Amino acid sequence: MGFHMQILIALLLGIKRNWHIFAGLILGIVCGILFPQDKFPFAHQIFSFVGQIFINAIQMVVIPLVISAIVIGISSIGDNKQLAKFGKKMILYYAIITVAAVTIGALLGTWLQPGIQAREFISPDVAQELSGVVAGMINDQHSHLAQIFLNLIPKNPFYSLSLGDMVPIIIFVLIFSVALSKIGEINRPIVSFFESVFAATMKVTDWIMYLAAPGIFGLVASSVSSFGVQIFHGVGKYFLVIFIGIMLQFVVVYPLMLKTFSKISVIKLYSAVTEAAMVAFGTASSSATLPLTITCCEKRGISSKICSFVLPLGATLNMDGSAMVQTIAVLFLTQAYGISLDPMTIIQIALLAMVASSTCAGIPGAGLITIALVLNGIGLTPEQMVTGFSFLFALDRLTDMLRTTANVVSDTVVAAIIADGANEINYDLFNSDEFEKDLV
Ligand code: ASP
Repeated sequence: MGFHMQILIALLLGIKRNWHIFAGLILGIVCGILFPQDKFPFAHQIFSFVGQIFINAIQMVVIPLVISAIVIGISSIGDNKQLAKFGKKMILYYAIITVAAVTIGALLGTWLQPGIQAREFISPDVAQELSGVVAGMINDQHSHLAQIFLNLIPKNPFYSLSLGDMVPIIIFVLIFSVALSKIGEINRPIVSFFESVFAATMKVTDWIMYLAAPGIFGLVASSVSSFGVQIFHGVGKYFLVIFIGIMLQFVVVYPLMLKTFSKISVIKLYSAVTEAAMVAFGTASSSATLPLTITCCEKRGISSKICSFVLPLGATLNMDGSAMVQTIAVLFLTQAYGISLDPMTIIQIALLAMVASSTCAGIPGAGLITIALVLNGIGLTPEQMVTGFSFLFALDRLTDMLRTTANVVSDTVVAAIIADGANEINYDLFNSDEFEKDLV
């Protein structure tokens, strides 16, 4: 091997894993544009195969990690008062972040009117091929809000486990863990068992992260190559509004939250969770990213007590990015169809989006399905808007990548604030520049 080649390899191995993943992400976008699926179907297959390997591997650890994290977290919090205090704070901060998200979404959507531009594209035959898919989605959505909440209580936790249904699993494990913390010393064998499970799954997560760069490359390349650049005609503004909204969360809302409620540096937090953010972007799934979200926060000194309580719940319940996208999407649809809305209806849309987003699973595309819930809430059906809906559908993966990144990072913002308030953070580790050395 030539000397230059050796230097290049040494450099590539030497740079931090964050940069590997970032390079995978950029290369994925470039290759996705260069090899559109309709012209290069084989390349698309390879991209998605590579991406799927990573997704499968990371999903493999989600359930054991979430269960063990919650058991350890709650049994280590122990006393009820502290648990209730953390719980209340968590709900309050998640609510503030989501209210900010839907407010930004409603303001931007009303001000920039992304739907107007799409009006000329609303012709009945555009959506012909997609109408079947949309109809299927609406069918899935027919269970009402009450049913959705009922489904959260698992009749058989092992059945939910086998389906990988995160919300019922988390609810069962929460109840089980509180019970464990109430039965005294007798809980030791179970808690020790889950401590071992947790440590081992964290190790496996570390190994899986070696696949992150090619995995993110494959996932991003396959989504970009499947939607193609032409998608931006007609809905470019819709995407832009979402992009601006999500950016505002990152540069205004999260920093403000951290500044108001803690003494955590936003830059340090962002640098700590970069890997999780990039994996969220690539996978478009908060649940699949969860092992990494926990790893990033714990490695940077946020106590496992807080991480294991706040992050799994956040990954399923706190979806500020999704709530914002749902608000903008419904405004987009109503504008595209020339339906004018009074301010009260816009507020209603925002409120419904908050509820709909928190019922949505942390998996790709879940937020699009729950848009139907928001539309129903204001008396419209997706059937009436099938053409407009097809735009949302076509663009969904792209907006999903953005909203999932916000969903995940906002979880870490709340975890950091609660950890700061409870003195459950190792500031030396958190503020150190050295910590990344062990990441490669
Ligand atoms: N994909 C998002 C997530 O996992 C949910 C959504 O579709 O909005 O957080």
